[in-house]
Amino acid sequence: MPTLFQRIIDKEIPAKIVHEDELCLAFHDVAPQAPTHVLVIPKKELANLAAASGADQALLGHLLLTAKKVAEQLGLTNGYRTVINCGRDGGQSVDHLHIHVLGGRALHWPPG
Ligand code: AMP
Repeated sequence: MPTLFQRIIDKEIPAKIVHEDELCLAFHDVAPQAPTHVLVIPKKELANLAAASGADQALLGHLLLTAKKVAEQLGLTNGYRTVINCGRDGGQSVDHLHIHVLGGRALHWPPG
């Protein structure tokens, strides 16, 4: 059974895409937690960060640099936060690796 994000990659489910290349996709979160809330996901099926290995080193770097580019593209000049929820205790709800990019307001710390 493909995950929700795999179905977005396959264009079976619509998303507001802000960036796409051969390795990844970035799109607006459907339930934004900040004025700007984008998800950056690999096209490769990878359940979460815990499932990544040394073979994914370049891919993980690409995802982070894409998060930075998307933040610039969307005008987050005052800063932003990147978050990777991993596993149940990490609050992960979709089992496909994703980096949240949140900005457009001052964010609190620590998270709950
Ligand atoms: P996480 O809880 O870290 O696994 O994050 C999953 C994120 O996916 C949540 O912020 C959801 O709001 C978001 N989400 C769920 N369904 C969709 C969708 N169809 N399009 C965009 N974002 C979604």
